Amino acid sequence: MAKIRLENVTKVYKGGVRAVSDASLEIHDKEFIVFVGPSGCGKSTTLRMIAGLEEITSGNIFIGDTYVNDLEPKDRNIAMVFQNYALYPHMSVYENLAYSLRCQKAKKEVIEEKVHKAATILGIENLLKRTPRELSGGQRQRVALGRAIVREPAAFLFDEPLSNLDAKLRVAMRAEISKLHQDIQTTFVYVTHDQTEAMTMGDRIVVMKDGLIQQVDTPMNLYDHPGNIFVATFLGSPQMNIFEGTIVKKGEEKHFISLDESIDILIPDVELCQIDERLYPLEAYLGIRPNDIKIETAGFPVEIELVERLGEQTLVYFHLGGRKEFTILSLVEPNSLAKGDKIKVRFDVGKLHLFDKKSEKNLSNAVPIIEMEIEKANLTANEKAQLDKRLINQSRPKSIAFLASNVKTEAEENAHRFTVKVEGEKDYGDRKTYYGRDESLTIIPFLTDKPFRKGQKVDLYVQLDHLNYTDEEGERISDDEPVNDHVYPATLTFRPRGCFLSEAELHNDEKCYKTIRSVRLGKKTLLHLEGAETKQKLLYLVDSSDLIYSSLPIYMRKKRKNGK
Ligand code: ADP
Repeated sequence: MAKIRLENVTKVYKGGVRAVSDASLEIHDKEFIVFVGPSGCGKSTTLRMIAGLEEITSGNIFIGDTYVNDLEPKDRNIAMVFQNYALYPHMSVYENLAYSLRCQKAKKEVIEEKVHKAATILGIENLLKRTPRELSGGQRQRVALGRAIVREPAAFLFDEPLSNLDAKLRVAMRAEISKLHQDIQTTFVYVTHDQTEAMTMGDRIVVMKDGLIQQVDTPMNLYDHPGNIFVATFLGSPQMNIFEGTIVKKGEEKHFISLDESIDILIPDVELCQIDERLYPLEAYLGIRPNDIKIETAGFPVEIELVERLGEQTLVYFHLGGRKEFTILSLVEPNSLAKGDKIKVRFDVGKLHLFDKKSEKNLSNAVPIIEMEIEKANLTANEKAQLDKRLINQSRPKSIAFLASNVKTEAEENAHRFTVKVEGEKDYGDRKTYYGRDESLTIIPFLTDKPFRKGQKVDLYVQLDHLNYTDEEGERISDDEPVNDHVYPATLTFRPRGCFLSEAELHNDEKCYKTIRSVRLGKKTLLHLEGAETKQKLLYLVDSSDLIYSSLPIYMRKKRKNGK
């Protein structure tokens, strides 16, 4: 059993394909996590890097507390299940299951016990004497699972294991794998391009696109609170209807108005409580899922262009809001709707999704990073002194920044306190996000399962370790730890003979260094280097775009001592 941690993991294949960029994620112990996204988005590459089948270009991977970047796949204590079952055709099911144990020279009784236990879990005891040829696709898949189970790994990694099965068997195996997870209570990491598999199997889902993690959350939260348009339209079938338009202020009210002005909807305050009032009118997209559009006597008038009856569900297609595409509503009630009918439709205002047009990000989801000018943060002298120790090269800090996920409502030692007034709340089922505004009018979102009222004063705490300095441009300029040594700017270059660091001021005592820690600061990355022999520690600031080299040993281009 193990948690798995990815820190800024990047993969660039030979030839320059950037398959995964800067992926950071913590997979909890015993969690069933599913990576989903369109073909080519980097899901399998991520899984293969966890497995050790693919070298990591930069970043760190931990399984449990072990740093595994340099460990062989066989030493990582994980089991991988692929879509081609890779069973040995000439061996019986029993021997296929026993194979890895025999390779480990396990005792006969141990093999016997483990094989039977796995066969019982999977319900294949009666198949042990057969060869893979004598099995159906589903049975072969079970044997492949069994082979992973006997090894009792810390985590199971699945790469599209069901994609070769027919639709009916896929549904059955989906349920079996979920049940297996409940039975053996081990971390499962599962890759699929199928959103139904992701939604039904995962405790949490990681949505990827173009090598970037888009959002990580429970299936229902991704569905109800998608972080951007991609996630909103990727999950859910038929997909969310998206309208282009503008959010305008009408007195104290905010309205979304579609491009053709046929849609005008009052937006509930809580959806926009984070938005700076000066940004209106704000170009935006409004999203609404097909089952959140209702047919009513008052609403937007439309003419039905197509009706699809799918058994329990009816899909109704029409044009609305100046969209070229059809807008779709879905109904489960019996109806006699037909093409040409004129109806009125209303959007369920509690189920609207608003996205910024430029960034395509959800306007009502909590901002992940909060930034506040230093003077407005009311840091005590002691707090400031602690932060100053982590400042890199006495640069001029303008603001402090912290992650919303690090804001707590419990008093903690060594934490800075912000006092806020609650402005609004959003319910995520398993948790609530509240939006508080402090004296400086900065909105601070915080997650809690405790109830708060609108208008209530609340003390919020952020550990000093989680506060960072940023400069004029919002770039982070402090390390996670005190910076005792001077930090030198440098350039990394890759040559056939290795990765070289060059700069006028090199203070190295030897030629070869390795990176022991890298801290992403934005455009720059702070490299903590350690001499291979002398263990001399040096700090250099390099461009984050050079980061792909940082997992290689670094050679010093000029050998100079103390600038002499
Ligand atoms: P997914 O599993 O999401 O379909 P992959 O992780 O397989 O995506 O691939 C991500 C990207 O990396 C794709 O553009 C793919 O073409 C590329 N890629 C995958 N494997 C290799 C490889 N061995 N060499 C070069 N490019 C690769």
